[in-house]
Amino acid sequence: MRALRAIVAVLVLALPIRAYDLNDSHFHLTNYVQEGTDIHKFLEIMGDKVGRVALFGIPLQQTWDHDNSGDFAPTYYLQTDAPLYYYSFTDAFIAMAYRSLTKAEQARFDPMITGFNPADMYAADHVRRVLTTFPGVFSGIGEFTIHKEFVSSKVAGKTASLTNPALDRLLDFAGEVGLVVILHSDVDMPFPKPGQEPYQVEQLRDLFLRHPKTTIIWAHCGLGRIVHPVKDQMGIVERLLENPALSHVYIDISWDEVAKYLVSSPETIARVAEGINRHPERFLFGTDEVAPTTQGGYLKVYRMYEPLFAKLTPEASRMVRMGNYERLFDEARRKVRAWEKANVKGQEVSR
Ligand SMILES: [Zn+2]
Repeated sequence: MRALRAIVAVLVLALPIRAYDLNDSHFHLTNYVQEGTDIHKFLEIMGDKVGRVALFGIPLQQTWDHDNSGDFAPTYYLQTDAPLYYYSFTDAFIAMAYRSLTKAEQARFDPMITGFNPADMYAADHVRRVLTTFPGVFSGIGEFTIHKEFVSSKVAGKTASLTNPALDRLLDFAGEVGLVVILHSDVDMPFPKPGQEPYQVEQLRDLFLRHPKTTIIWAHCGLGRIVHPVKDQMGIVERLLENPALSHVYIDISWDEVAKYLVSSPETIARVAEGINRHPERFLFGTDEVAPTTQGGYLKVYRMYEPLFAKLTPEASRMVRMGNYERLFDEARRKVRAWEKANVKGQEVSR
């Protein structure tokens, strides 16, 4: 019997530890008309490649305005001139999808709250309401958007800005709870005139400086489809990372539109790799895929980055693909659960 137990113990120890290739810090389960991939199907797509995923929908719903596009039903913001509007139900949808999973499956997701208007002073109250309605679910807020080419100007109502106190209130609350923030804000406008001041860089830096207690991931390091690396893009990013007052700010390199710039030539790859190798604890890989249907499609961006990963030190590569995600989101889970314990119970008592 003892011999048998010893054999079993040896076999268990010999089993390979389940090793994934990556965690995905930026993923949209649903699209601009709130449709997407069933979460159980998505687990199959993650397969044995992707360990954990920061999971969100898209806060903006594309209106189908018959006056504008007739019987054509737009599913993307570039397909019509009709406005986008904030669709708060996305948070309930994501929470219910998460709750449909087993405990072990849930452990692979970090759901994020996105269904608020960042130009509304009540945005923080929405986040609080979602946390108290769905305790035990969420790890952060975002991806939400302030400046985004083609998108910001299409959003119904007041235009969001980096200087709006509503955003400060939101980031203060995220810091108080321990929610990770994923913020999309372009580093510049499309097609700037030569010498034009990229005012967004300064406003963004000031915003980050005002919220030292909030963990912020700057999505796509500020790049976009046509907002391309402003001259010295890596310089801007590195100055930010070297500022000790901005140690709470991280960069995600998600989106195929960003990858296309970062791996466009051996020179850019070398420059980006140099920056990441210098600050390996500050960069996160993400796909920014929206409602994928196959593993091949889902991992397209990951494959695009293979030449970049190859230029990183093994340690930096692991941190960007896995370790930084685990560190930031494990801490968020711990803090948010503690906040919920203190605050959701209080709410029950007062009923
Ligand atoms: Zn995104």
